[in-house]
Amino acid sequence: MIRYALFDVDDTLYPRSAGVLPAIEGRIERYLVERLGLAPVEAASLRDAYAARHGTTLAGLLAHRQTDAEEYLAYVHDVHVEQLLQPDAELDRALQALPWEPVIFTNSDRRHAERVVAALGVRGRFTRIFDITATGYRHKPNPAVYEHVLAALGVPGSACLFADDSLRNLRAAKAWHMTTVWVGPSAVPTDGIDYAIARAAAIGEVAAQVRLRES
Ligand SMILES: [Mg+2]
Repeated sequence: MIRYALFDVDDTLYPRSAGVLPAIEGRIERYLVERLGLAPVEAASLRDAYAARHGTTLAGLLAHRQTDAEEYLAYVHDVHVEQLLQPDAELDRALQALPWEPVIFTNSDRRHAERVVAALGVRGRFTRIFDITATGYRHKPNPAVYEHVLAALGVPGSACLFADDSLRNLRAAKAWHMTTVWVGPSAVPTDGIDYAIARAAAIGEVAAQVRLRES
């Protein structure tokens, strides 16, 4: 039986078209320009190289440079979330109606996650937030972070549904026997994915199907 619904934040609770992640990516490049003294074009290619090799820019910085992770996270998430996102009443109703406890599971930091859910008007729906600082700056799809979340919740993976826009993160969750929900405009049922929905507000459709399957 599922007890918890874990939600990624960025590009999952709101669409990529809202522009929050591109703004953060711009801040990451600016950080590299300011802190490492790189030219903008070098910053962009280092960001790509770190993301490809280490999964995130932060992981690359922690591996290769002296970096204050807290300061980095505050810098790159300093974007005008409130101007890019509006309250989403449909998402609020969908979360309220869920038969499971909604929980945040994000690769960003808590402060950013809090700002996003507040801007969407759904802060009160989430009882817990698991962010990148809770897992020693390790991030999805690292198996250790799933293990950490499951240990903290005190349940096996089979008691969790996990909604994310990243196929890589979802496939890693499948290894823990979570029920996986791919969220995004191009999401389709595929290997390792149990359900696919275009927007997080459609999570109620998944709940109805899970109920049928569990009955
Ligand atoms: Mg995401």
